[in-house]
Parts: sequence; C-alpha cells; structure tokens
Amino acid sequence: MVMTDQPDGVSRQRLSMQDRPQLEPEGPFDVVVRVAAAGVCRSDLHILMGELPVSVPHVLGHENSGWVHAVGSMVSAVQVGDPVLCYPFVSDGLSAPERRGVDSAAPGRRTPGIDCDGGYAEFLLVTERSLIRMPADADLAAMATLSDAGLAAYRACRKAATALEPGSLAVVLGVGGLGHLAVQILRSTTAARILAVDTRAEARDLAMSCGAHHACSPGELPAAAGSEAAAVIDFVGSDESASSALSCLGFGGSYFAVGVGGSLSTPIMPLVTNETRIEGVYVGTYPELVELTQLALRGDIRPMVVPYALGDADQALQDLAAGAFVGRAVLIP
Ligand code: ZN
Repeated sequence: MVMTDQPDGVSRQRLSMQDRPQLEPEGPFDVVVRVAAAGVCRSDLHILMGELPVSVPHVLGHENSGWVHAVGSMVSAVQVGDPVLCYPFVSDGLSAPERRGVDSAAPGRRTPGIDCDGGYAEFLLVTERSLIRMPADADLAAMATLSDAGLAAYRACRKAATALEPGSLAVVLGVGGLGHLAVQILRSTTAARILAVDTRAEARDLAMSCGAHHACSPGELPAAAGSEAAAVIDFVGSDESASSALSCLGFGGSYFAVGVGGSLSTPIMPLVTNETRIEGVYVGTYPELVELTQLALRGDIRPMVVPYALGDADQALQDLAAGAFVGRAVLIP
C-alpha cells in the first residue's frame, strides 16, 4: 500500500503485484528482502493522522521479516534465500551511538516504513547490518512482531527487571501488541508478580493466558495495586495511564513510558520523597532483539498474531484503531 497524499483526506492507492517494481540492491551492502510479514503498528496510525510526518508517496511498515531476495556486491552476512528478521534501524554503524550499540540514537539512521519505504509491500530494501538470520523453520509472521512491538516490550522489561525482586509487583498497562509480549517476557525473565491492566475483557483474558498473575480494568487498578508497585510499564501513554501509574508506585518505584499520546503532569514532592524513577523506552538495540528471538525460538515468547492479506491493510489499520482484535496484526503479501 502506498500513501499518495497526506491527511486530512488521506488518499491512498494500492499497487497490484504487477505494478510494483522489483527492487534491486543500490549499494554494495544493500539487501533486498522478499517480505514474509509486516506488523501493523500504532505508529502507522500516527503517520496516517499526520502526527508523525513522512514524505509522500510513502510505503508503511517498520516491523518486518522475510527472505533474502538479492544482495549487493559486498554483502557477506546473509545469502539469497536466508530467512531474516529486520531490525528496524538501518545505518552504517559508524557513529558514536551505534558504536555503543544504540542505533536508535544514530544521527544517520533510517527506519524503513518511517524514513523510507517499508514492508507493506512484497519487497523491502535494507542493509545487511540490520538483518538477523532466522532458522529455516522459524515462524516469520510471529518473528516479525518481535522486531518492533516485541523489542520495545523487551527493552522496557529488561530495564524494569533491575527493580523487580522476586515477589515484587510489576504492572503492565495496556495488553495490546506490545503488552501481551511484555507479560510473557516478565514471566520468563523475572520472578515478579504481574498485574495486567486493560479496558477490554478479552485483552485481560489474553494477559492471563500469557502468564499474568492478575488482570483488572483501569478503574480497578488502585485497589489491585495499592501503592506498592516496583515497576509500571505503560504501553498506553495517555494522561490517565501516566497518572494512575505514578499513583500505584511504591518507594523507589519505576515508571517506564513506552506508549505515546498524552502528557505527564505531577507534583514534584512525592517524586522526591518516594525516589520515583521515570524513564522513556524507545524501541531497543540489535543485541536485545537477538536475545528476544532466542526467547521466542525456545518457545518462552509466543506472539498472538492476527494475519491480514497485504491488500487488506486498510482494514487491519481500522481494526487496530478500533481495538477490534487482541494481539498483533501482520500483513502477509
Ligand atoms: Zn512501531
């Protein structure tokens, strides 16, 4: 799917398979990936609403997996036919942040689907540095969801884990594409008690099936958590979720912001007296994505995948906006 105009009045034009040009490697380290699956992310909705500017025409899709289709002359890390997972940041690896492993802060990075054409397509142009080779029998639709949704959830959980002693309380706000993975990651990497919070009963059921110890609605959170949470991971990012997160933290508790949209406003005094920690989480690192794939390949993480045909991208986006499914939607070309 190609966006051809900006909202308001987004007009989009679908290209048939025959119309879409087959990409060729442009540089020596380029790789053309034949897309297996592209995750449908709330960031795509922010792009469509004009809240995250892109140049148009533009192909969405920053959460991708596939098979190596063609390689540039200097590519050595992958071969044609290899199944691969696409780390969302594409860069040359030379900047200081990249040398520290934080490609998300690299000045020259680009994210296919945001800064250039992405994976709502049959083919995707990346570089070899951004690829992780997968086993031949890997479920590439499930793996795709790890590269953005899973990775942000994993980074948040790893940060939270430093504050989570066995038996302490971890709260997951929002059991969507990221939250249901966070519950599983917390369950497999910590000994915390996990309380999952969502407005939807079916999402709370999903959280329990993913390993949460308790699940409740936002209105029930104060009674369920008291003021003893060691960590709250907020995948909602609304004014209300941020406010309720801070009020259920215990002394030394940590608030991790992952979802976006609202504002955080709080008196400073309780932050000081409770030694509250507030931290943002932005996607994650390549090594963290490798670690996460290992959890998934051994079966500790099982993404709830909701498949749509590539031609049904509009429907998938509408369903995401409406909260019409639980788990993570992926587009299959
Ligand atoms: Zn995303």
